[in-house]
This record gives sequence, C-alpha cells and structure tokens, in this order.
Amino acid sequence: MDNETFRRYGHEFVDWLADYFENVEKYPVKPGLTPGDILSKIPLSPPKTGEDMDHIFKDFKEVIMPGITHWQHPGWFAYFPANNSPPSVLAEMLTAGLGAQCMIWQTSPAAAELEERMMEWLRDMIGLPSGMAGVIQDTASTATLCALLTAREVKTDFRTNEEGNSGDLRVYASAETHSSIEKGVKIAGYGKENLVYIDTDENFAMIPSLLEEAIDIDIKNGKIPACVVGTLGTTSSMGMDPLEEIGSICQKYNIWLHVDAAYAGTAALVTEFRGFMKGAEMADSFVFNPHKWMLTNFDCSAYFVKDAAALIRTFEIHPEYLKTTTDHKVKNYRDWGIQLGRRFRALKLWFVIRSYGLEGLQQMVKNHVNLTRQFRELLESDTRLEILAPVQLTLVCFRYNPGGMAEETLSEVNRKLLEKVNASGEVFLTHTSLKGRYAIRLSVGQRNTGIGQINKAWELISQHAGD
Ligand SMILES: *Cc1c(COP(=O)(O)O)cnc(C)c1O
Repeated sequence: MDNETFRRYGHEFVDWLADYFENVEKYPVKPGLTPGDILSKIPLSPPKTGEDMDHIFKDFKEVIMPGITHWQHPGWFAYFPANNSPPSVLAEMLTAGLGAQCMIWQTSPAAAELEERMMEWLRDMIGLPSGMAGVIQDTASTATLCALLTAREVKTDFRTNEEGNSGDLRVYASAETHSSIEKGVKIAGYGKENLVYIDTDENFAMIPSLLEEAIDIDIKNGKIPACVVGTLGTTSSMGMDPLEEIGSICQKYNIWLHVDAAYAGTAALVTEFRGFMKGAEMADSFVFNPHKWMLTNFDCSAYFVKDAAALIRTFEIHPEYLKTTTDHKVKNYRDWGIQLGRRFRALKLWFVIRSYGLEGLQQMVKNHVNLTRQFRELLESDTRLEILAPVQLTLVCFRYNPGGMAEETLSEVNRKLLEKVNASGEVFLTHTSLKGRYAIRLSVGQRNTGIGQINKAWELISQHAGD
C-alpha cells in the first residue's frame, strides 16, 4: 500500500469509527449467531495476489461486523466492562504506526520513561504507597503469574529458578478468587493441589481466621506457605477480602501478599469509595486493569510491587546481544515480566489521563456507582426479585424468586429470564453461581451507559420475570 492510499483509508476508517461510536446502540449488543457462521464466510485459503482495500473493508463490514459482540454498547452489563475512549483509540493508532518494540530502554527511551511516570501517576491516583514501583503488563492474569513466580523465588531464596520446584510451596486464595489464580499456580509449578481455597463469609469475603488455620496446619505438615492472593472485587459478586487482617497474617508468617483488584482498582480513584483499599499498603504486589473500567482500550494492566529488585531478580536475563552501556542507569522492562517484546502501552494511558483529567475519571466512576444504586432501588421496589449479594460499587447480583420454588426450578426459571432479556439485543447481562444459587449479574461500566439503559434493563427484567 502506498502512503497516499494509507492516508485516504486512514481518514475513512477514523470517520467510520466516529460513526460507530455514535451509532453503536443500533447494533444488538450480542450477535445472534451459531458457531461456524463467520468461519463459513472466510475463504479456506489466503489470496495469491494482493486485494485492494475497498474490497477488504467491504468484507470487514459485511463478514466481520455481524459477528462482533459490542463491548462499547451502552447496554453492556455483562461480565465486567472493557471500556475504551476516543483518546485511547487515537493513541493506539499512533502506537501501531510507530511500531516500536519496547523491550529495553534503548529500543525506545520515551516508551520506557513514559511508562515509569504513568505508573507513578496511577499509583498515586489510587492511593498506593509511594514506595511502590509499577510496570504495565498485558493482563491481570500475567501480573498475577509474575507475583506467584516472584513469591516462589523469594520464599526459596531464588533457588527454584535454578533447581526447579520442590512441590512443598503453598498458595492461599478465597473460594471466590478469579480463575487466573489457579492458572498461574499451575504455570508457576506450585501444582493445583497446593492452591488452598479459603471459605468466604456472607459478603463473599475471605475469612481471615480460616486462612490462619490453614497456614498453621500446612506448617505442621511440613509445607511452606509462600503466597496469599487477596481479591478486591471478586468477579462473581464484587466481594472484598479484608486486607488489613490478611496482611497482618502474611506479616506474621512472612508470606507474600498479592492483591488482585483487576476491576475494582479503578474505584480507588475516588477517595470516598476507597474504603476497600484499607490494608492495600501491606501488599507486596498489586494489580488493577485500566483496560476494564478506566477508558483505556484492551490491553493494559497496571502491576505494582514493593520490592522491584525481587521482581527483576526473578525475571532478568543478560544475553550478550541485549547488553547496552546504559543498563545500570535505566529501567529495562523486559526484566519486569514474562515477555521480552513489549508494546508501547503507556501512550494510551497518557492520552486518557490527560484528556479526562483525574476529575473526569472520578466523575465516570461516581456516575457508574450512582447508576448501579438506581438499578438496585428498582429491584428493591419489586418483591418478586431478590438481591443475592451486598451491592458494592457497580455490580448487582439478583434473581427472580416469587417464593415457593425449589432451588433447581429457580435456576431454570432465571436462566430463561436471562435468555429473554438478552434476546432483546438492547442489553447484555451474564450470570454466575453464588453459594450454589444461580444469580444474574448486572455490571455497570460502559462509558456511555446512562439511566436510559438502566431503565431499559429493568423494563425487560420486570416484563419477562414470571413469563
Ligand atoms: C477480570 C479479572 C481478572 C482477569 O483479568 P485479565 O486482565 O483478563 O487477565 C482477574 N481477576 C479479577 C478479579 C478480574 O475481575
């Protein structure tokens, strides 16, 4: 493609995206497709000769768009959000254009230094201790894996990297923890059997006394407690583990405390919502995802550590071909995580934080929390509906329960209710299981969600409840 053609399509695509942002609500949030529908429209073999962009773009609109789930739709209430914003998308375009590979300082000094400063901004914005250093990872899953690996090395005096895992190291997390903890435990070689799930209370928060009991039993049996993962904002129900008590236990037994605040971390931008962060200063490592709720398009996960030296010692490599004369003076982020090659992700954070300002981001969080409260009030006004977990921040877990129905029937009735609500195409909600009960989740966090979509969701729910 010559540069003039690039320019022409670049303008056309930005126009198309601006129209998309304006009209995204006209699409069904989730396409009504069956598996294979899109695959059948993509040729079995690649073209021999190049095709023109008109043709490719036409297929994008006709083949791909009908199979897109619209995460930027204001009726998005599923999972957690992955919201984006125009400044973030513009920065991402520049990042792609520069095509810089930011593995070490020398391979793009501005990327390394902007990342360092952006992590300081974010750390201060959510109230983490000033001593913590940050690095951008692709996802919270990766950040948690880094924490598990560092905890493993610190606990074994960096011998596991040399000799392999002994199989005695233990990891603790609440029964409500995210599946990425189990994945990380397996990848890091702890073994799934060494992941100890601690029961939660009625608020879906880890019970610290049970944690301490489990640790004591393990020590008696010759096991070595290495890491506790505390969750702030569990995926099922926004449960908040009590970090102060968990942190004290970790200090008493000298155990690494990793905090997974993948979604909820963004709420800490607002001082009056920051109560759940109490004790976060005791964390050895902490992760939250600006790519979930902070208007920064996927992917961008902020990982903070107290002891950067331990992180670096876990991951550092020194092949001759990557040595530079500035190594001792700069941050080479290849040693702060798993990947060698790294995208320039700090740029979109810089654009987002500058465009919205701290106050703009705080306003977004407050607005979403407020909309959630309004939805909760609508639910509470109808006795047929039951709230199944304390409503915290932007998540409501509920079910239709008119009374007198067996647990199994309730699950079936609610599964059908969710299907009918989603079939409207106007909103998209998902479900979970809370202590054995089927729960519908409504999670607020799309940039353009307003009271209109909340009312729409409520209208569909109350209309189909008891169908
Ligand atoms: C979303 C989520 C994750 C996983 O995030 P990724 O960035 O997709 O890996 C982990 N923990 C919690 C609590 C989450 O909500």
